[in-house]
Amino acid sequence: MEAKLPKTYSQQLLTGWVNNMIIIKSDNEINLMRESGKVTGFILKELETFIKPGMTTMDVDRFVEDTIRKHKMIPTFKGYGGFPASACVSINEEVVHGIPSKKRVINEGDIVSVDVGSTYKGYVSDAARTYAVGKVSDEAQRLIDTTRESFFAGLEFCKPGYRISDIGHAIQQYAESRGFSVIRDFVGHGVGQQMHEEPQIPNYGRPGRGPRIAKGMAFAVEPMICQGGYQVETLQNDWTVVTIDGKLSAHYENTVVITDGEPELLTLGE
Ligand code: MG
Repeated sequence: MEAKLPKTYSQQLLTGWVNNMIIIKSDNEINLMRESGKVTGFILKELETFIKPGMTTMDVDRFVEDTIRKHKMIPTFKGYGGFPASACVSINEEVVHGIPSKKRVINEGDIVSVDVGSTYKGYVSDAARTYAVGKVSDEAQRLIDTTRESFFAGLEFCKPGYRISDIGHAIQQYAESRGFSVIRDFVGHGVGQQMHEEPQIPNYGRPGRGPRIAKGMAFAVEPMICQGGYQVETLQNDWTVVTIDGKLSAHYENTVVITDGEPELLTLGE
């Protein structure tokens, strides 16, 4: 799940963004996150074949919650800030935070973004994918592919010595080079004992800014990429975020651990 970027200092204080501390995880803590990440990644992999036209977004949520609990873990999202479900399921122009519903049917040709968090012994993993349901338009598939690829463009900078804004800069460069736009209002984040820790990780911006990246940090890097403009609004249910122009949006996220060398992805499900 992505973090809402707090706009004012008082909002930042209220939401806990301002403790100015990026928590470095011990090997033991990373082990616990690794276990959590296996389940989150496994679920996202299973959803590739589970999601079919005609099912509802609630069917997806049931599958996610049942699988997390079967592994004796806790669905991180359930109750987070009052969110009522274990997965965010967002269709087409819905960017993030779609609330699962028995009334919301997934149709052939839709693109469906599913965001999942699992907590194991107090440690969180957070990841998301966008799925093509049956046959989708070439442009929709290109959006899904670009969103995933932009994550890996950003991942190149998830190494000691780079700065936080180098990640988002690479994501933006890649996505815009393919003709898409980058959501501004929601950002990636540190992850550990809390789902949302420091630092915020925007998916856009100038390079060379923000804290220096170091071994033992853990991030949820999560580009949200749009077909049209990046402007969004939140629906009356106070959760679901949609593009204002009604064009498609896709999401790709993994929990990433910074090492001495290549970053470790905890939620690939492989
Ligand atoms: Mg997240």
